[in-house]
Amino acid sequence: MATQLATNYADLALFIGGEWLSPEGRTTSPVINPATEEVIGQVPHASTADLDRALRAAEQGFRTWRAVFPDERGRILKRAAELLREHKEAIARIATVESGKVIHETRIEVMMSANIFEWYAEEGRRAYGRVLPQRTPGTRMTIVKEPVGPVAAFAPWNFPLGNPARKIGAALGAGCSVILKPAEETPASGLAVAKCLVDAGLPPNALAIVYGVPAEISTHLLASPIIRAISFTGSIPVGKHLAKLAADGMKRTTMELGGHAPVVVFDDVDLERVLDLSAVAKFRNAGQVCVSPTRYYVQEKIYNRFVDGFAERAKGWPVGNGLEEKNKMGPLVHARRLAAIEGFIADAKQQGARVAAGGRRLASPGYFYAPTVLSDVPNSARVMNEEPFGPVAVINPFSDFDAVIEQANRLPYGLAAFAFTNSSHTLKLVGERLEAGMVGLNTYQISIPESPFGGVKESGHGSEEGIEGLEACLVTKFISEA
Ligand code: NAD
Repeated sequence: MATQLATNYADLALFIGGEWLSPEGRTTSPVINPATEEVIGQVPHASTADLDRALRAAEQGFRTWRAVFPDERGRILKRAAELLREHKEAIARIATVESGKVIHETRIEVMMSANIFEWYAEEGRRAYGRVLPQRTPGTRMTIVKEPVGPVAAFAPWNFPLGNPARKIGAALGAGCSVILKPAEETPASGLAVAKCLVDAGLPPNALAIVYGVPAEISTHLLASPIIRAISFTGSIPVGKHLAKLAADGMKRTTMELGGHAPVVVFDDVDLERVLDLSAVAKFRNAGQVCVSPTRYYVQEKIYNRFVDGFAERAKGWPVGNGLEEKNKMGPLVHARRLAAIEGFIADAKQQGARVAAGGRRLASPGYFYAPTVLSDVPNSARVMNEEPFGPVAVINPFSDFDAVIEQANRLPYGLAAFAFTNSSHTLKLVGERLEAGMVGLNTYQISIPESPFGGVKESGHGSEEGIEGLEACLVTKFISEA
């Protein structure tokens, strides 16, 4: 189907019990290309009966899949990684057409998804337990790691391939079955990832892909005793809501929620280099990235030059349809995001912020918003408090180390934080003081398959990828033999 999907976008389906279930006879919702505003497909919604079928399949699939030895599970995940790479171009185009993200980034995302499958393929073989020293001769005390059980996973649209790959990879690598609800905005990407796994030989019931009204699906799945763990990526309010539902069944949770990453730039840096890195990091996926740098705190001496340099880059940033190679930024994913960004900017302006670049919607059709730079933004502005999730860099000056750390840590978010300085002493201090699950020092690179990805404070708990990602899908059992 991966190849087929590339030429026939409208071929959307649910995947339950090893069957691709068509939209026929089901409620559907339109999928829109955000670069053109054209309806490109109809995504089928799972009925209650479909969800119950997915739950039964997951229960059965768990029994089948946990009995497959980790070595063989790994072989299937590795084969799926190969298929992803083989179909890189077709899958990248699907992701670009439905998410708006530029093709250069979706190609990277296909490769990243393949790397994630390979990581879990290997890591699943290392779900080690331990043996305790005896207290009495003839006894044995062992600790083993077992798969937690069927997992319900919810993946958003901003990494339409990478988010599903992370969630499916962790569950399957640990020996769990998984029901995944990718975002309704980007359904074909999730299906393309699933298709690679099916073609790689995954047993039919180990994975289900469902779509529908998100709140209805999560309520139904989380109420079932079959589901033993939840993995969610999305906003903090939805994460809190799902955590409450999970508490009723005492289900394990991995919550990768929003961020509002501070970036502290000291005046001893190579300014042009930091600006070049910052523009790429900020405008990646039009800023719709949970670890996107959002609040820049720049030391006074270089503040004006930093604002001007960022604005200059923003004004020249090539924006347009993500399928065109020349473009470095596509549209926002849907009309709601566009309205949200317009609201943030209007509020900031009203509160006295200066618009150094952008600050307006670009010509339609398409949900395009200009790369935007705001300076001198008061803490009372909404954009200083709520995750903007758009192509907006907010820049404010600082003079004092302790004061800037206080500002950086001011919000309840704690996902990513960054700092740039040529002083190794300052770097060490700032790294220790920033409150975040991931800290980039002189770099924006904070995500590779072997590193844990997750937040602290209200940005969530638990990690994806790294050894921690597998651990989230495992439970600990102590066996005492006499
Ligand atoms: P939204 O809250 O409608 O949707 C965000 C994601 O959560 C979607 O994938 C959606 O399907 C899912 N979702 C929403 N309600 C759900 C529920 N009750 N049960 C299960 N899943 C549910 O918002 P949106 O307009 O699409 O995005 C807005 C905000 O979401 C952003 O400002 C950002 O804070 C957050 N977001 C975060 C990430 C991330 O990587 N952490 C990704 C996408 C969106």
